Amino acid sequence: MVQKVDSIWMDGEFIRWDEAKVHILTHTLHYGLGVFEGIRCYLCHDGRSEVFRLKEHIDRLFDSALIAELEIPFSPEEIMDACKEILRLNGLKEGYIRPLVFIGDGVMGVHPQDNPIRVVIVTWEWGAYLGEEALQQGTRVKTSSYTRHHVNVMMTKAKICGNYVNSVFAKREAVRLGYDEALMLDTDGYVSEATGENIFMVKNGLIKTPPLSSILAGITRDSIITILKDKGLELVEQRFTRDELYTADEVFFTGTAAEVTPVREIDDRAIGAGRPGPITKEIQTTFFRAARGELEQYSRWVSYL
Ligand SMILES: *Cc1c(COP(=O)(O)O)cnc(C)c1O
Repeated sequence: MVQKVDSIWMDGEFIRWDEAKVHILTHTLHYGLGVFEGIRCYLCHDGRSEVFRLKEHIDRLFDSALIAELEIPFSPEEIMDACKEILRLNGLKEGYIRPLVFIGDGVMGVHPQDNPIRVVIVTWEWGAYLGEEALQQGTRVKTSSYTRHHVNVMMTKAKICGNYVNSVFAKREAVRLGYDEALMLDTDGYVSEATGENIFMVKNGLIKTPPLSSILAGITRDSIITILKDKGLELVEQRFTRDELYTADEVFFTGTAAEVTPVREIDDRAIGAGRPGPITKEIQTTFFRAARGELEQYSRWVSYL
């Protein structure tokens, strides 16, 4: 259960949690066209809090809105300020931020025309998305019977609400079968991503991640690519198949919610030694240090409250 906080930012105003309601004819509720972001705020070693890569997340929110043809009635600066202010108001030193742009009520049907575009920003406390154990020991994954979106069926570069029905189906199936997360293949059968995380594999020191064809361009993915390159590790953005993953030395997921989560098993096959490998652990440590403002090198990613 999401822990209730004091306030929510809605259409430019701070209102009480219990008052953040919408009408049942809210267009997005019926047809799924809305866009959102997921952002994390970290408590730093010096007691300050910082929002990780806030600008990139808000830029992506506006890009998603552009793709989805939703005109956000606020500037990126207003949204960024509101993200910080709502954390302060709720007294959250660490937490998750969820901006959501949606179509309000007015006309029904699939041509919403002039219905209002509404924006909310909600914050809550959120620990390790796939569990603290997954973060330490690794997670167990099953290749999904559901395929990731074809790029001309849904637009995969945007965090569009309705796109996540596919994720919910895949996640449910994986959990019901006793796994933690679903691995999704693209429409050509190549590895794409998980239900809300990007994927990396390591084999003989070479790191691979799928190219930005059908996948969401993760900001964590981008951070990890930067960290890997800065460490002088060899990385290629290249398509690969599920069987290549089975024989990988290491596999890990990246995402704002999942952070850097090692994968220890895929389709009942242990990955490497069946526990997080050295590159995964090193990348995870560096990522968390960067996110907590401990690394001067990555201070550009850190935006203090
Ligand atoms: C949000 C998301 C990710 C991860 O992106 P981050 O920017 O790292 O949070 C990966 N895949 C999908 C489908 C997503 O929705």
